[in-house]
Amino acid sequence: MTQTDNRIKETFLAGEKQVPRLRFAPSPTGFLHIGAFRTALFSWLYARHTGGQFILRIEDTDTARTVEGAVDDFINGLAWLGMDIDEGPVVGGLYGPYYQVQRKALYQQYASQLIASGHAYRCYCTPERLEAMRKAQEAQKLPPRYDRHCRYLTDEEHAANEAAGLPWTVRLAMPLDGETVVHDELHGDMVFKNSDLDDMVILKSNGLAPYHLAHLVDDHLMGITHVLRGEEWIPSAPRHVQLHKALGWEAPLYYHLPNVLGKDKKKLSKRRNAPSWSDYQKHGFLPEAVFNFLALLGWSYDDKTELFNREELIRVFTLDRIGVSSGIYDPDKLLWMNGVYIRQLSLDELVRRTLPYMERPEAEGGLPDNIQRPLNIEYTTRVLRLEHERLKTLGEAAHVVLFFFEEEISYDTALLIEKGMDASRAREALVHTRDLLANIQDWNHAIIEPLMRELVANLGLKKAGQLFGAVRTAVSGRTATPPLFEMMEVLGRDITMKRIEQAIVRLS
Ligand code: GLU
Repeated sequence: MTQTDNRIKETFLAGEKQVPRLRFAPSPTGFLHIGAFRTALFSWLYARHTGGQFILRIEDTDTARTVEGAVDDFINGLAWLGMDIDEGPVVGGLYGPYYQVQRKALYQQYASQLIASGHAYRCYCTPERLEAMRKAQEAQKLPPRYDRHCRYLTDEEHAANEAAGLPWTVRLAMPLDGETVVHDELHGDMVFKNSDLDDMVILKSNGLAPYHLAHLVDDHLMGITHVLRGEEWIPSAPRHVQLHKALGWEAPLYYHLPNVLGKDKKKLSKRRNAPSWSDYQKHGFLPEAVFNFLALLGWSYDDKTELFNREELIRVFTLDRIGVSSGIYDPDKLLWMNGVYIRQLSLDELVRRTLPYMERPEAEGGLPDNIQRPLNIEYTTRVLRLEHERLKTLGEAAHVVLFFFEEEISYDTALLIEKGMDASRAREALVHTRDLLANIQDWNHAIIEPLMRELVANLGLKKAGQLFGAVRTAVSGRTATPPLFEMMEVLGRDITMKRIEQAIVRLS
């Protein structure tokens, strides 16, 4: 950091202390499921609502578990969802570095300071000793807890361990009795008995700090004002309170958010019930729909309004509307919401965003590979106009509109025969249809429809569906399609006639 940087930072710290600074601090020990972005979104929304900052910090001190590609996935996921980052990897910032492994020396410095002030101590216990202790406690049905052996080493024992070059960790010396009060903005005051809390490791023997020290030092040095994190951190929170006390620092405001649960009321997991952001992207969910959906996982405006665009959410999002009960992740609701957002797209926008899904390889969900790319935009626009209302994801478009693009359609001949019809009557109806259509000058649904309705009457059919169903199957191979006559118009005379002809042959 240059001197100018330092000065800017000091001015900033002094002058803008009140600006909320919130961070998303994932560990790259795996890829996140979509629910995990909910917590990030709450922080982001609050930062944007208040004109504060949103910071991405990579908590990568558990180096043995670091997964290749995870950081890129976080960054790309945030970008896809439209959460821009004010400070973090790639964009940088005055409080960097934003990877914790690069901040190792800072944690060591504070661990030393805590030892010097008598709030922490070096622990030389071997993993074998700790393991034996754990087993013994388990056998006696006691909670696993460090027995504070090294807290009470004499100066001579300490010196001997140092002289022998024994590896050590650093542990926080917790108060032995009394209580620790954790204040949480959502849960209020939570009181913990100190006798239940052991002396946690704040620096590992490899010199890296575990979460407890690392996040706390970083939240302090980065000027974080509001910490939104999962409620699984509540049991560790009293230790964090003591650590703040020992360092003489003021703690940020804590919001321990309830976990997002699946419809089965179980915690979301990528393997069981929660896809990743990129799965949603692949399926053709709109990021703006996912964004809206995520915001409602544990937050509500008025318990009834569900549709909020990004700007509205930024405007109305406040932390006091976060609920204390879990948000339920309901994939059907997301599908519904995605359909709503798709219908809000202009036709041109729909086409622009759907084309890549249709043109991707067949194996990835695109149209059959033998269909020529790029697709004709004008034709695709006419096709998608007919499906606009019904599409739930952009990814399903290729399947839904397939018959508009295929050379040969396949279907079960029995589908040509509607209720109350038989093969020869269906055939006869299609022959009349063919003859009628052959004479139509202007190939337009508004012209075709009344003539076809007249034909139903002339053929003496009980229901229009007996004819229209057969024609629908003949031209599309499907029983559910967009409105028949508009579909015929878009398919064009040649294809429509050819397919009706083929159906007649099938019925012969
Ligand atoms: N690295 C922690 C995690 O991934 C972050 C928790 C927090 O936000 O403080 O769970």
